[in-house]
Amino acid sequence: MAVPTYDRFQPMHCPFCSAHDTKVIDSRLVAEGDQVRRRRECLACGERFTTFETAELVMPRLIKQDGSRQPFDEQKLRAGMQRALEKRPVSVERLEAAIAHIKHQLRATGEREIKSRVLGELVMAELQKLDEVAYIRFASVYRRFQDLNEFREEIERLSREPAKNE
Ligand SMILES: [Zn+2]
Repeated sequence: MAVPTYDRFQPMHCPFCSAHDTKVIDSRLVAEGDQVRRRRECLACGERFTTFETAELVMPRLIKQDGSRQPFDEQKLRAGMQRALEKRPVSVERLEAAIAHIKHQLRATGEREIKSRVLGELVMAELQKLDEVAYIRFASVYRRFQDLNEFREEIERLSREPAKNE
């Protein structure tokens, strides 16, 4: 029997009778945690089938400063990091690895919702490993350094630390 595959944009209807009422009977992370493999059973016809759903479904939602909730947005994360990395000597592969690492850490919290600040800290930690200029760019916007001394201290602290570039 063929195994139907769905992405997150398709409704989880039964591929045999098209009913929308299905029950998840098994769920596990696959593809290094980027997908959830679900075994489902149709409540109308009783057939069982498998779906591969992308990890966005299991990413925690972000709680913003004002208390509002937002879904995790990988494109937005990538755009923010690319902006910080503009004209810096960091390959696309290393950026993608950093994004994968951030997503992994978010999932590993096991939380359904996390403060957006937590994501900001994860991004800063990854950028610091990738490129210190990009880190400073991101941090200066993200933290909105109000005190120039604080900014200077950050730069001094970084210059004392050994280079992390591979
Ligand atoms: Zn069915």
